[in-house]
Amino acid sequence: MNHSRRELGSPPRLPADSLRVVPLGGLGEIGRNMTVFEYTGRLLVVDCGVLFPEEHQPGVDVILPDFTWIEDRMDAVEAIILTHGHEDHIGGVPYLLRLRPDLPVVGSRLTLGFIGAKLTEHRIKPVTVAVTEGDRVSFGPFDCEFAAVNHSIPDGLAVMIRTPAGNVLNTGDFKMDQFPLDQRITDLRAFARFGEEGVDLFMADSTNAEVPGFTTSELDLAPAIDEVFRKSPRRIIVSSFASHVHRIQQVLDAAERHDRKVALVGRSMVRNMRVARDLGFLKIPHGLVTDFKKLGDMPDDKVVLICTGSQGEPMAALSRMATGDHQIRVGAGDTVLLASSLIPGNESAIYRVINGLAKLGANVVHKGNAKVHVSGHASAGELAYCYNIIKPANALPIHGEWRHLAANAAIAIRTGVPEERVIVATDGVVVDLADGLARVTGKVPASHIYVEGMTVGGVDEATLSDRRALAGEGVVTVVAIVDESGKLAETPEFITRGFVHDDVATFASVVPRIEAALANAASEGIAGQARLEHLIQRTVSTWAFKAHRRSPVIIPIVIDA
Ligand SMILES: [Zn+2]
Repeated sequence: MNHSRRELGSPPRLPADSLRVVPLGGLGEIGRNMTVFEYTGRLLVVDCGVLFPEEHQPGVDVILPDFTWIEDRMDAVEAIILTHGHEDHIGGVPYLLRLRPDLPVVGSRLTLGFIGAKLTEHRIKPVTVAVTEGDRVSFGPFDCEFAAVNHSIPDGLAVMIRTPAGNVLNTGDFKMDQFPLDQRITDLRAFARFGEEGVDLFMADSTNAEVPGFTTSELDLAPAIDEVFRKSPRRIIVSSFASHVHRIQQVLDAAERHDRKVALVGRSMVRNMRVARDLGFLKIPHGLVTDFKKLGDMPDDKVVLICTGSQGEPMAALSRMATGDHQIRVGAGDTVLLASSLIPGNESAIYRVINGLAKLGANVVHKGNAKVHVSGHASAGELAYCYNIIKPANALPIHGEWRHLAANAAIAIRTGVPEERVIVATDGVVVDLADGLARVTGKVPASHIYVEGMTVGGVDEATLSDRRALAGEGVVTVVAIVDESGKLAETPEFITRGFVHDDVATFASVVPRIEAALANAASEGIAGQARLEHLIQRTVSTWAFKAHRRSPVIIPIVIDA
């Protein structure tokens, strides 16, 4: 496999006969998918998603791809193509459009419906280009053809990007369910046609590459969902992604069969289902869905609530129900159905929610104890079919942590893609395609850009490191009054939060060290508030670790006497 361990520098100037492919997100992580293509100075972006933070990133709302590489060249961007409407593919678009509001946004009807509703909330009116499977549209030098793919959201598209320097097929997220609810299967005939023509670089979804065999059909879930409806004595609360139109359709159909009324709970759920219904992707039987406030008067065994929060997101409806912090009170006899996957990184948050709901007396049904979910991604068997049908010259696995990318690469090699033509790369790695050969030629910035409230990029790794230290070790503020000679004018004051100490005498042993450090500094002519504060910070840090095996955040404040 072609993954270089050496440090990569900036890529060279792109030769005129080369196509540059730069994944800015989604390689080495599940989320914030984004790839930029460059040909003769023009750029094309495919997807721009967000990544959700993990526990070691406290306070962060979402994580964006790093736009540094393109932010000064936004005028050269021909368009952004969105393969489908999931947050990890469209969530970053509002932030990208802030850099250039008139950037054409290309996608299928449902994808544009979802991103349009989202952009309205950001008060952005995008320039959109609606495309559908079979369409062939050029954006500058990029000749793009779209093919239907089947996924856990309707109306997904793969894109074949043709340039004189080579053809790239990007699957977006996909699977090969042969019996999807909407009968819209992944267009393997188009894949075969692209293969015949020649795919120089195949970028395939790696999410499920480690899973052997084939992803089960959505249709196979119906009996398990029916079973849940049959056996539930009281309310049924279903949690799903706010974009999983087909799963929600299945729940609506089951509710109708079992004579229950349904309410949608949560802003994104209500918004997306309205978009899906208006565009004809969701069929809501007349009178089935009602406002959840009206369900209060109905018997519990006639009620279904559909909400978000299946990934344990702390602010989503389900997490708040689990902690009793929601107007919907979950209690004994209620059934909670988690119709969703477990995205890597979210495990502990999800189990915390399941435990919270179980403690309240609910029966929690999830993929671990019933067949109520199938993945939206192609398993190893499906990927092998794709490689065999397409016969790409080079492969660049996308969408996944390193283990997923490596598993996808192994499939590529097993199906006959030469080992040296399979590139396993992380975000920011630059791949140039010329003469049918893909090569790693450098690296561009691809750090995590943290969004927190209204702040974009203000929080960095150092901030997060401070927060982790604050959470784990507490903080000690040292107020030192220093006289003209640079010596302590009186005993420093220590103010602590979260730093546990036995008694007030705890800090007695550090005072002589501070005194000595200041005296030493004075004799060497070291003065000035900033330098003395740094000195005190180091002295107290060293002492805290040596004397207490602790590393609290130290905040030194030097005041002139
Ligand atoms: Zn997706």
